[in-house]
Amino acid sequence: MQTARQHIVEVAIPLPLEGSFHYLVPERLSSVAVAGKRVLVPFGRRKVTGYLLGDDDHPGVGELKEVLDVLDEEPLFTPSELDFYRFIAGYYLHPLGEVIKMALPAGINVVSRYRCEESEDGTPVLKEYLAGGKSVRTERIYTADPECAARPRGKGLEILEYLLDAGPCSGPELRERFGGCTAQLARLVELGAARLSQREVYRDPFKAQSFGHDAPLPLNQAQGEALARLTAALSAGSFAPFLLHGVTGSGKTEVYLQTIAIALAAGKTALVLVPEIALTPQLVGRFKRRFDCGIAVLHSGLSDGERYDEWRRIRRGEASIVIGARSALFAPLQGVGVIVVDEEHEGSYKQSEGVRYNARDLSLVRGKQAGAVVILGSATPLVTSYHAAMQGRLGYLHLPDRVRELPMPQTTMLDARNQKGETFLPELVEAMGENLDAGGQTLLFLNRRGFATYLVCETCGHVLRCPNCAVTLTFHRIKGKHVCHYCDFTMLPPASCPDCKSGAITLLGRGTERVEDQVQKLFPDARVSRMDRDSTKGKGGHARVLKELEDGTVDILIGTQMIAKGHDFPGVTLVGVLSADASLNLPDFRSAERTFQLVTQVMGRAGRGDKPGRVFVQTLAPGHYALTHAVAHDYEAFYREEIAFREEVGYPPFAHLAALTFSAVAARQGESAADEAAALLRKIKRETRLRVEVLGPVTAPLGKVRGRFRWQILLKGVERADLHRLLFHFRGGFSHPSTVRLTIDVDPVDM
Ligand code: ADP
Ligand code: ZN
Ligand code: ZN
Repeated sequence: MQTARQHIVEVAIPLPLEGSFHYLVPERLSSVAVAGKRVLVPFGRRKVTGYLLGDDDHPGVGELKEVLDVLDEEPLFTPSELDFYRFIAGYYLHPLGEVIKMALPAGINVVSRYRCEESEDGTPVLKEYLAGGKSVRTERIYTADPECAARPRGKGLEILEYLLDAGPCSGPELRERFGGCTAQLARLVELGAARLSQREVYRDPFKAQSFGHDAPLPLNQAQGEALARLTAALSAGSFAPFLLHGVTGSGKTEVYLQTIAIALAAGKTALVLVPEIALTPQLVGRFKRRFDCGIAVLHSGLSDGERYDEWRRIRRGEASIVIGARSALFAPLQGVGVIVVDEEHEGSYKQSEGVRYNARDLSLVRGKQAGAVVILGSATPLVTSYHAAMQGRLGYLHLPDRVRELPMPQTTMLDARNQKGETFLPELVEAMGENLDAGGQTLLFLNRRGFATYLVCETCGHVLRCPNCAVTLTFHRIKGKHVCHYCDFTMLPPASCPDCKSGAITLLGRGTERVEDQVQKLFPDARVSRMDRDSTKGKGGHARVLKELEDGTVDILIGTQMIAKGHDFPGVTLVGVLSADASLNLPDFRSAERTFQLVTQVMGRAGRGDKPGRVFVQTLAPGHYALTHAVAHDYEAFYREEIAFREEVGYPPFAHLAALTFSAVAARQGESAADEAAALLRKIKRETRLRVEVLGPVTAPLGKVRGRFRWQILLKGVERADLHRLLFHFRGGFSHPSTVRLTIDVDPVDM
């Protein structure tokens, strides 16, 4: 029986389950069970941690279980943050509990759990029981007690006198002054001559660096006009989204900095999202030199503890600027006035597993909620963004020229169709030789790591494939192994064909390792280096290669898209793009856009210093519009062709997409679940007359990954609302065996 006075709460549980759950709050917890805290609740036969969403007096029918404990002293999220999480859960069709768990820093789950206990007068108090140790870092503070008469001898006395004089000191400070003194400090505490307490310290990954100061630069005309519009929008104080379109070096970052300065002066805060790879100390340094306020930095190199520290600093209002990669979108920053999404076209803003959100898209949602100015910056905007700008849904700010009037690099397209498998066309080899003689640096771009892309038997044609995935194995010579780039399966090179036992097996296709090898053979005296995911493994690997370039200790650098992004290489005067068309042949409607972006970016690496650069683009598709317009530095021309293509085939921005992927170890189970799903989707569509196309199921572009066979259904809706309604109906009515995994990807980026 429930009475009106019962305290009932709604709880989200981070499990792949729809909906939220209701629990009864026992009297002893009632005063501390408030929205935003974690609670321990019984769930089935388990006890799980859930998130308290709020009170709810209308839980429907059924007997309610009791909340077992309240785990936080303070709420972890605010009501408006909860609104944001709810939006994400609805939009991406993901359980709210998992969305909340993802949005909160992982470190929080390791530390600071509280237990509710009764104090002497019977009121509940929360006692921390898992804190300290791993995640919250503390240091010991020693305070001398002037009242205490006990006196140690020798070094202990020296320390005590110092403490009496200097006031409270930390353990590390004392050790620095007195050398090893653990025993003496323990003795002081034992005597009662000093008190020991703990102070929380933040781990600051940039602590050791000093950044200096610099002043805002006088803006050029285009920057000035952009800033004027941004300032006007800021002072209007309501949501205003902009596209800031400008080539690399056109001064976008300076515009971000000055816009943020204005927002800070008005008492607002700023959130700056950048692709992980661009989150360099140079970038952070530019912000630290410009602003005196607290700056929090979030990136994947942080430990859970460091991340949690930054999160708490932000939560307490100790940072006014947050710079970070994708997940920084969830930083608990209050009073956000500006959100910057730099390199808005980057695919890395989309999370590819778990909650498949896109931080670029959600920045607009958060911006709207906060009434903020949102700046999406790019040299090669998404065609969907440019389209929105042309329609007036995004304010369009254009910085057409580089700030320093450097000429654009001179670019040549090389037709590789009659190349007979050579890695470099003669023109490129000649240019490399000339550049080497002139003391310039060369970058060679190839989007494939490893040595050879596959091993083939010349007798029977058998190709070595991954046993778990529908892909060939890449040979890595440095590791001496064949490796799967999807599941990390490795095997030693076979002596003969596994199928027909013939000894005539050959490595074909080239990756960065092989190109490195070939370059070294062509130019034995050149200093050659390589930058890809293999060569930069481990902390600092990435920085090391960049430093080699900066110091001029490398002449030719071969790399994957890692070299294309976010770095400034002033000494580079020649860029070679090998196999520019590799990304054109991917089964993805964005392949032309991706190729245009990538080639533009790589080309932008040439001639950033004082010497003009040269670029060679070697390709099997020299007539493709993605390449011809990239080489001509003509974004608008590319956009016109691409948008016409999108309209013709009905892809974004002319339709909204969702991809449903079914995977199973047993192929037939996956296939029949996909068939049933498609039938249900078509039935719902007929009954509701929603205007959504249901395509498939078909074998997914990668038909098998990690031992699971995959099928895909693609949904295309001209109206986003129709697409969502169909998905909601579907999710409510579809069930599948637990051996089949279903992922729903709204606005998929990789298909
Ligand atoms: P982007 O972010 O578009 O690549 P940046 O803001 O980094 O461009 O500017 C490129 C370079 O030009 C930087 O070295 C920056 O300090 C400098 N710069 C930017 N704006 C100005 C300006 N108005 N006057 C002089 N130098 C500028
Ligand atoms: Zn064979
Ligand atoms: Zn594999």
